[in-house]
Amino acid sequence: MSSEFSRAEVVIDLAAIRHNVRLLAARAAGAATMAVVKADGYGHGAVPVARAALEAGASWLGACSLAEGLALREAGITTPVFTWLDAPDVDFTPGVAANIDLSASSAEELARVAGAAHRASKRARVHLKIDTGLSRSGCPAYAWPALVKAAAAEPEVEVVAVWSHLACADEPGHPSIDRQARRFQAAYDIAREAGLNPLRHLANSAATLTRPDLHFDLVRPGIAIYGLNPVPQQQDLRPAMTFRSQVVLTKRIESGESVSYGHTWTASRDTALALVPAGYADGVPRTLSGRMDVWLGGERRPIVGRVCMDQLVVDCGVEEPPIGSEVVLFGAGRDGEPTAREWADTIGTIDYEIVTGMYRPRVHRRYEGE
Ligand SMILES: *Cc1c(COP(=O)(O)O)cnc(C)c1O
Repeated sequence: MSSEFSRAEVVIDLAAIRHNVRLLAARAAGAATMAVVKADGYGHGAVPVARAALEAGASWLGACSLAEGLALREAGITTPVFTWLDAPDVDFTPGVAANIDLSASSAEELARVAGAAHRASKRARVHLKIDTGLSRSGCPAYAWPALVKAAAAEPEVEVVAVWSHLACADEPGHPSIDRQARRFQAAYDIAREAGLNPLRHLANSAATLTRPDLHFDLVRPGIAIYGLNPVPQQQDLRPAMTFRSQVVLTKRIESGESVSYGHTWTASRDTALALVPAGYADGVPRTLSGRMDVWLGGERRPIVGRVCMDQLVVDCGVEEPPIGSEVVLFGAGRDGEPTAREWADTIGTIDYEIVTGMYRPRVHRRYEGE
């Protein structure tokens, strides 16, 4: 086991990222691909993921906040970068200066972007967002004609695109998808009538994989570039993240002895335990206590008793594994190890939340497949 980490580490396979981006870009042939690297690349590291995605055929990067976009620029990345959500007191001036595309959902946001353009002495690149039914950000249809008109008349901004976001693309066939697509088309028509000639983008990973008719000029996959599949249909994606630790101590206990806080698990036979130095502070949800296996010594072994802040205990049965044995908490699933998806299904969330929660100061992050 490498000496680079002592307790727990997250390994990111950049070859898997490139594979996934190539697959998505091929599915969306005819459109450009914006790799979404918000939230530090869904917990995988925004800059290394961005570089891998650009190598594999992405030509845009998407992030949520301006600070995330600026971090990409500071890393020397010069491709188009789009960011879409910030607090009202964020000054967009450095974003305009750094050539970051910004979103506007309202006349107020547009005015803020125009003000930043004025201060930066540079036209701002703006994507106007129409709310087609997610009812989150985006301009409501009743305010759209006025927003489009204001944008067309604003010399400080260049309207690059009209865009929206889907609510239920991960449920192919959901009637809201076509309804949102119709509203998107209507919003685009209004922009054209106002004299604009914007790009269009709507598709997240799920729509990139299942709705070629909604690819338009640009697709915005996020979760699928990390190898996690948002749709029910099988896809040839490769999960990029592995979470691993190692055995630091083993011991034998007798039948009738209990394990960890609260003694929620009691051995029904004499058995061997392995201590793994990863707990809920390292990204193992406490709600997995007694409900998940790890991959240890080429087989699945159950986590027994409560997951603690810093450690968990695995029941190894007859044999004590050697100290330092690798423990895979989740991985791609190829050998039979648990996956982020299995964790998510077990505790009632989605794999997005599992991997995004893996950015922990105490957990070492390592890249392979560069
Ligand atoms: C997160 C996000 C995406 C990517 O969504 P996935 O489901 O991860 O593919 C695309 N567009 C916007 C606006 C987002 O916030």
